Amino acid sequence: MSYFEVTKNVVAANATNRKKSKINNAAQTIVMSCLALPDKLVFVDCGVYLEVAEKFRKDMEKKFQRKTSYLILTHTHWDHILAMKAFKDVDIVVSKKGLASLKKDLKGYLSSEELLEYAEQYAVEDSELANDIRNADLFLPNISANDEFRINSGEHEILFKVIGNHTAGSAFVYYPQEKTMCAGDNLLECYPQLLTSNWKTMDLLHSWEEMDIEHVVPGHGKPVTKEYITNIQSYYDKLIAFLKEQIKQNASLKNVLKHPELPDYFASNQPDWYFACRPEANWLAVSIEGWYNFLKKQKKK
Ligand SMILES: [Zn+2]
Repeated sequence: MSYFEVTKNVVAANATNRKKSKINNAAQTIVMSCLALPDKLVFVDCGVYLEVAEKFRKDMEKKFQRKTSYLILTHTHWDHILAMKAFKDVDIVVSKKGLASLKKDLKGYLSSEELLEYAEQYAVEDSELANDIRNADLFLPNISANDEFRINSGEHEILFKVIGNHTAGSAFVYYPQEKTMCAGDNLLECYPQLLTSNWKTMDLLHSWEEMDIEHVVPGHGKPVTKEYITNIQSYYDKLIAFLKEQIKQNASLKNVLKHPELPDYFASNQPDWYFACRPEANWLAVSIEGWYNFLKKQKKK
């Protein structure tokens, strides 16, 4: 597991159980964070590997000499919550919509019967992951917020803010005194973005740009600076302008995808880059297709 000292009071960790992972799955790339308030620790997301989550918590309690009071979940997808047992004794915060979907999923793909099957998908490439999926102890968080939730400590404050997009109940966590935001899967570093193809997405990126942020902890990958948000925004600005022009010329999606002037994704040549969390998928192509279809529909209106 690698730790990133984001600021004096924020540490992020790659939840991976390997020194240098060649394995491409969401459990190996997810990021957990520890935000230290003057009198307590607040964690954001906990990843999948129970031992890794427990070690991160213990290491941070030792480093800061403070107790853990909260685990905040940016959303309730399995890769962000599976190790939640490591935080069973503290308050766990999620959005109201996230809580509702977790309730449903605990009877669906996160039920103990279905987790056994889910584990089989990873059994060969990552036996430890398969084991942790099989033995997951999932339960409902005790705090749920409609729009926002604040954790205070003297002059310091941590804000949990529901914004939707990646999932209906997705949220980000903002620590203004450290100028740091934990974005959850609404911002990814080692993958293309999973943002929905509509104007609200662009508004979200813009609203983040307006905030007093220096550091951003993504849902997957490693921490970045605010410039990364600007890069994402300008990529989509370029992509949208290009697609509008292509749609005007009645270009098919197939031709658009292989067009030499299709804007390059700014981060695709960095180390540890994947086009999706599974080798057979490509989220960049999915995103381009989403925008192509959205803009085509807009033009017809
Ligand atoms: Zn994720």
